[in-house]
Amino acid sequence: METASIFGFRRNPQAFYNWMRPLARKILAASPNPAHYALAELEAAGFLKAIITQNIDMLHSRAGSREVYELHGHLRRATCIECFAGYEAESLIMGVIQNGRVPHCPACGGLLKPDVILFGEQLPVRELLAAQQATRRSDLMLVIGSSLQVAPAGDLPLVVKERGGGLIVINYQETHVDRAADVLFRDNAAEVLPLIVRAVMEAS
Ligand SMILES: [Zn+2]
Repeated sequence: METASIFGFRRNPQAFYNWMRPLARKILAASPNPAHYALAELEAAGFLKAIITQNIDMLHSRAGSREVYELHGHLRRATCIECFAGYEAESLIMGVIQNGRVPHCPACGGLLKPDVILFGEQLPVRELLAAQQATRRSDLMLVIGSSLQVAPAGDLPLVVKERGGGLIVINYQETHVDRAADVLFRDNAAEVLPLIVRAVMEAS
């Protein structure tokens, strides 16, 4: 937590990038799974309005989803913590993966931080507001592969229930909203979601 906090980042950016290096390598090598594609299909067909995610791996957008609120940020861009100039992050992160060196701002020499939300940082306001708004409008929320232990995203499913909407939970572990769920799957989302989406398509 110290390493992945904004304070740790400022104090010892090399330790942060050493920690991030294998994670970034994994993320850049990852591909969307059938669950990501099923959600993109559901959106394209008009049934899904938005995805709220705490993942930083960008796999939803890579699978073709359009309305994605990434509450914990992403690795698409990086920002200078001194002058706030923004940069495309991919080549920069490839550089970190290859040589492990801390990237600096070409404009001012300040430290560059990927646009992921570290401990001690505010969530992105625009994304959070959009997520809350989508939640208030939702008549059905799918909770997929999240233990819902991190606020404020973890509290959103109950907002849907309080407003009379439905709740489907697909998760291996127990969550605090299981008892409020209308349907509960203790299964792998990559197996269950494509089946749900196929059933929805056939019924429509
Ligand atoms: Zn700068």
